[in-house]
Amino acid sequence: MSSSPADLVREFHLAFGLDARTTPTEVAPDLAAHRGELLAEEAAEVAEVSVSGPLDRLAHELADVVYVAYGTALVHGVDLDAVIAEIHRANMTKIGPAGEIARRADGKVLKGEHYEAPDVAGVLRKQGWDAGDE
Ligand SMILES: [Mg+2]
Repeated sequence: MSSSPADLVREFHLAFGLDARTTPTEVAPDLAAHRGELLAEEAAEVAEVSVSGPLDRLAHELADVVYVAYGTALVHGVDLDAVIAEIHRANMTKIGPAGEIARRADGKVLKGEHYEAPDVAGVLRKQGWDAGDE
């Protein structure tokens, strides 16, 4: 059994009778809002312990964010691993051809001239999303 977050979270959703879709789908507003609230709660818990720690609590809350994010993707039928791969592809284009990297004063990597934005809609279409624009 794979231990990827997507597989673990699918196991959880199936065990507890939670929604699990296989095709990208807009879900009912009450369900979508509920998932957003769960994620906001976990993100707030990360913010709470980001500076004060302790480190095990930070690690716990970070894992909760990822777990709930994967669950939310599953509820919407989104293969989040594929979306993350596309975000990564785009992020790697922030490096210039000569290896130059632009940074903000706080260290955040900035988009350079060669940056290519991620095509998340394209990834979802490959997963069977019907955005209603065809
Ligand atoms: Mg938590």
